[in-house]
Amino acid sequence: MPRAEVTAFVALGANLGDAAQALRDALKALGETPGIRLVRASSLYRTAPVQSTGPDYVNAVAEVSTTLTAPALLDALQAIEDGAGRQRPYRNAPRTLDLDLLLYGSARIDSPRLTVPHPRMWARAFVLVPLREIAPGLVSEAALGAVDGQHTSMLEPNS
Ligand code: ADP
Ligand code: MG
Repeated sequence: MPRAEVTAFVALGANLGDAAQALRDALKALGETPGIRLVRASSLYRTAPVQSTGPDYVNAVAEVSTTLTAPALLDALQAIEDGAGRQRPYRNAPRTLDLDLLLYGSARIDSPRLTVPHPRMWARAFVLVPLREIAPGLVSEAALGAVDGQHTSMLEPNS
């Protein structure tokens, strides 16, 4: 029997090289991964680095529908990061591509390599603003209000 599909949300970020193109390529790669269907993607947003350095980040959030388990989905995300030449010299280093699993259905996961819901998502405007664009029911006014000191602006509307 085929596995049921699970709705998951993925945060995308990049701040090295052509970051906007890295996100467009990553969205395409997500949709082309067996077991992952790209349901919708937010616009691309621009954000000054938070607890990080270097050029501004480009951020987006994607909704996917997947038959993969959460660990297998993380494997797929990390394979796409690696394919974009992601290096990990130190924590929070500037990166060519970062793909984080925000939500996996209603699952709560706390394993050494995977925490879901993503523990810092509610503290990050660069996650909440694009997430609200594609899933308004998930992000309340109050949740947005909690991060309103952070500046995230639209860079490129979703076509
Ligand atoms: P960060 O995204 O925190 O800036 P990395 O992308 O280098 O840093 O991820 C570090 C580790 O975080 C990964 O090796 C992964 O195992 C772990 N991790 C835990 N929870 C998650 C999650 N929800 N999404 C993505 N990675 C996660
Ligand atoms: Mg990450």
